[in-house]
Amino acid sequence: MYLLFAGIFGLILGSFYSVCASRYGTGKTVASPARSYCPHCNHQLTVLENIPLLSFLIQKGHCIHCRTRIPLFYPLIELVSMLWAILAAWNATTPLEWIALMIIGGICIVASAIDLRTFLLPDVLTYSGAIIVLGASYAGILQIDFIQSLLGAIIGAFALWAVAAVYKLIRKIDGMGLGDVKFMLMLGALTGVEHLTIFILAASVCALIFSIIAMWGKKNISTAYVPFGPFLAFGALITYLYGDQIIFFLH
Ligand SMILES: [Zn+2]
Repeated sequence: MYLLFAGIFGLILGSFYSVCASRYGTGKTVASPARSYCPHCNHQLTVLENIPLLSFLIQKGHCIHCRTRIPLFYPLIELVSMLWAILAAWNATTPLEWIALMIIGGICIVASAIDLRTFLLPDVLTYSGAIIVLGASYAGILQIDFIQSLLGAIIGAFALWAVAAVYKLIRKIDGMGLGDVKFMLMLGALTGVEHLTIFILAASVCALIFSIIAMWGKKNISTAYVPFGPFLAFGALITYLYGDQIIFFLH
């Protein structure tokens, strides 16, 4: 029962996240315009057209007014948010841990969606995320030791910065943004130094699978820049919940 509640709550949050992600950097804010609208015909969505995920399915992914295709991106954010809310509720040991995981997951989802759309990871999300994770582990809300968390943040961010620096030296281009390094402060703190390798492994495997699928679809993709944020976020969240099981499985 509480999983159903968590799922619905996740869907509602997801719809808020997709608004945050789609309006970032466009001059619009989350509060204005107050109502969601079709970006093609500016038709304001009614309450019925604005139900997370369900409206998209009923309208078969088209705007009811102008029949323009709604990007799959937005319902996907809602779906991911719903799955995260359920997974977090399933695994959290205390209600407080669930709330912390919902906030952390929310920051990860919005940051990832913005990274995919604009290739940027906003400082306001990555830095506040790092502070929230470190604060929660210090307060004993998360199932991670504070020293583990602190070292994870520092060593994780430094390792990624070193990789980016070497890549730049060899290829003479920025392969990874500094945003990823800042994001790593938050994510390294979440997994802790001990699970850092499992986390990087999970993120890399995920990125590799995605690249293969992407290359399959298109013959020549530009290799100049890959938004690595979503893979890092996915790897870290999975490692937090299932790190011990992954290690057990690999042994
Ligand atoms: Zn429309």
